[in-house]
Amino acid sequence: MTVIVDDGKCISCGGCVAVCPVLALDMKKGTDIIVDNDSCIDCNLCVRFCPVAALELDEEGRKRYKGELPRKKAAVLY
Ligand code: SF4
Ligand code: SF4
Repeated sequence: MTVIVDDGKCISCGGCVAVCPVLALDMKKGTDIIVDNDSCIDCNLCVRFCPVAALELDEEGRKRYKGELPRKKAAVLY
């Protein structure tokens, strides 16, 4: 796991799906957010974007985000 979704907070705005640079997020039936953890590069963009703080990186994802990222991944942070 990398990105964790709190379905109770999510208002299904779709913003996280739109900002993900590697298309790792999708919406199931227009509601629940589905995370493709194999594609996620832990860039944290969706977490920062979510207006209701429904997303967070899990422990493994936070370690990778705070650590050094490969150059090709660091380029998409901002
Ligand atoms: S952390 Fe980055 S790569 Fe992973 S799902 Fe969020 S926006 Fe996509
Ligand atoms: S940005 Fe947040 S509120 Fe909007 S769809 Fe994604 S998880 Fe839900």
